[in-house]
Amino acid sequence: MKPKLVVSFHDLHPGSMACCDRFLNRLAALGVPEASLLVVPNWYGEAPLSEHPDFCEWLRGLPHDISLHGCTHVAGHRPEKPLEWLMANKYTAGEGEFYKLSLPEADHLMFQGLEIFREVGIEANGFIAPAWLIQDDHIPLVGKLGLDYCVTFKKIYDMNRLDILRAPVLCTTSRTGLRRALTRQVVSMLASKHAHEDILRIAVHPIDFRFPEIENFIHGLIARTLETREPTTYAKLVAH
Ligand SMILES: [Zn+2]
Repeated sequence: MKPKLVVSFHDLHPGSMACCDRFLNRLAALGVPEASLLVVPNWYGEAPLSEHPDFCEWLRGLPHDISLHGCTHVAGHRPEKPLEWLMANKYTAGEGEFYKLSLPEADHLMFQGLEIFREVGIEANGFIAPAWLIQDDHIPLVGKLGLDYCVTFKKIYDMNRLDILRAPVLCTTSRTGLRRALTRQVVSMLASKHAHEDILRIAVHPIDFRFPEIENFIHGLIARTLETREPTTYAKLVAH
């Protein structure tokens, strides 16, 4: 089997639609017909999809794999321990929405997110927590809610076969000038390190496209990766 590549666009919401649309056109030109789109049902509590019919119509018309990506994408809890504070704030920029939740809270929030999708006729195949932060014992909730996969920083969980696929991710960090200076080098090193993995993922965020040097790097990385891998989606990887 030829090694696979999953390209995913994170933080898709009405405000990032134009950016995603441009990226999807570019992907098609590069030879990636399908990607996994991580959609936030109510971005920062300010953009419930029911109030954005144009966005929903656009999304329903796409051939791509859709994942539920949190509910608002914002962490509601204030962690008390220093390490937890670091994880919730520094590492994720306050976006580890699912990281500190109890099991019933996580269940409720996933259900709420799926309800918003249902109202507007959007069907999700899987769940990916903001910043990939989900507690291990919350992962079965994803299958209970009828979704096919859950993805973390290193793994893809097949909720139907109860299988776990190893799948490292390449992801640039564009938040600060220092990170932008280093990120291309770091990601290139990781790309070499993971060259022999069966599945590799490239994850992009809307912020990456504010910086032409990062955008060009991502396009080049995808083109190079496609020399040895065939593109797929999370949904296809776990399809029976
Ligand atoms: Zn996100």
